[in-house]
Order: sequence, then C-alpha cells, then structure tokens
Amino acid sequence: MMNKGEFIYEGKAKRIYRTDNPDQYLVEFKDDATAFDGLKKDTLADKGILNNRLSEIFFKLLEDEGIETHFIEILSEREMLVKALEIIPVEVIVRNIAAGSISKRLGIPEGTKLSRTVLEFSLKNDELHDPMINHYHIYALYLATAEEMARIEELALKVNAILVPYLEKVGITLVDFKLEFGRHKGRVVLGDEISPDTCRFWDIGSGEKMDKDRFRRDMGGVIDAYREVLRRLEGGDGAEVES
Ligand code: UDP
Repeated sequence: MMNKGEFIYEGKAKRIYRTDNPDQYLVEFKDDATAFDGLKKDTLADKGILNNRLSEIFFKLLEDEGIETHFIEILSEREMLVKALEIIPVEVIVRNIAAGSISKRLGIPEGTKLSRTVLEFSLKNDELHDPMINHYHIYALYLATAEEMARIEELALKVNAILVPYLEKVGITLVDFKLEFGRHKGRVVLGDEISPDTCRFWDIGSGEKMDKDRFRRDMGGVIDAYREVLRRLEGGDGAEVES
C-alpha cells in the first residue's frame, strides 16, 4: 500500500509528494496550464489525466527500449509513482524541425526540417526565464559533470530515435520536446513528463498542431487534441496510418 506522504513541491503542472519509501515519490498531474512564464494561465479539464496516461505510455515504451526512466507505476488517474530523483537543473531541448524559440532566435521559418537533430540546454529557473546555457556554463556552475552530460546527450538522442518512428506510425511528426534528467543511486535517469505539454506534435497529414501550442497561441481545441494523441497511441478506431 502506497501512502501519499508529505507534500514536497508544486510546479506549474504537477505536485510532488513523499511516500513511505524514501526512494520513491508520488507525482500528481494537475489540470493547470501556464505559458509565457506564468503570464498566461488557465485550467483545462482532464489535462492532468491525459498527461499522466500519455507519460505512462511514453515511459513504458522507453523502458522497453532500455532507457531508464523514473516511472514505476500508475497509482490513479492523476497519480504516478516514480523513483526519487535529484533533479539536474538543466532542461534538454531536442529539435528535429524548427519551431518556437529557435525560429525566433535564428530566423528559421517554423516547419523547416533541421539537417540534423539539434540539442539545446537551458537553466531550469523560472525567475530567470530558463535562459539558454552551454557546456561551459554547465561545468563552471557545477550543474552536471562532463560524464553526466555525455550520458544525458546520449540518452536524449536515443529517446528521439525511439519516439520519432513510434509517433510517425500513428501519423504524428515529433517536431521538438523537452527532457529533464536526475540522479538516482548514482545513475542518470530520465524524469519529469513526456506529454503534449512538453513536446510539439504535428499531424503528419494536415500539419495541425496537437500540443500545448494550441493553448499558447489561443487556437482552441487543446484538450481535444491531447485526447486525439492518446486515442492514436492506444490504437483505437483504426488510428494507425500506413508509414
Ligand atoms: N518546452 C517545455 N518547457 C519549457 C520550454 C520548452 O516543455 O520550459 C518544450 C516546448 O513545449 C517545445 C520544446 O520544449 O516542445 C521547445 O520549446 P521552445 O524552446 O521552442 O520554447 P517555446 O516556443 O515553447 O517558448
């Protein structure tokens, strides 16, 4: 029996609690949506349920492919049991196609395919708006060791190599996504969540957005799009498309 213990931390979309086991935390997915450093806020009914389930699907897939994640098991509609990580305060962005901040920063039109996968790093710090950093900053500030960064980059590229064809089979282009890693018993482990809040998903046929950009850009249909991603991944109603 897993008891929800002391509340530890509340993020923008999740709450973390201790459990009876010091090596395990409980993650609760909320319906809150925020963008632009919390300037834009809303509650999207069922988002937490969808992101809990979608993260479970992605974490299980990655575990099956030999990538260690913090995922242990689903406890309820909104709750996931995870390994307790010491989070490495570096957000890792993986990009296949230009969109969002890279398009603005480098003047690359959204939708331009990058000739190779691009990794970017930013400091996990909301007050500073997650500024982009490089390896020099990471080592100078002792955020991670060179050995850890080598592992993080290897894992991030491997996650991408697994997710791209998996999503393509259900008609979804994986444009970009954000990963967070942490330390658990001396190992680097994938943490956080993998969901339409942290990835850009475009429908292969129509190019339609199926992710948080619908919220950021006031496009409407946010939850319907998240539901559609889940429906396709659960393989219902002939959602599989020819690849
Ligand atoms: N992302 C995220 N959390 C962040 C910043 C980015 O999950 O704090 C995700 C975002 O959803 C997208 C990818 O990382 O899938 C790249 O985001 P980008 O740098 O383009 O920033 P944005 O345009 O979202 O500000």
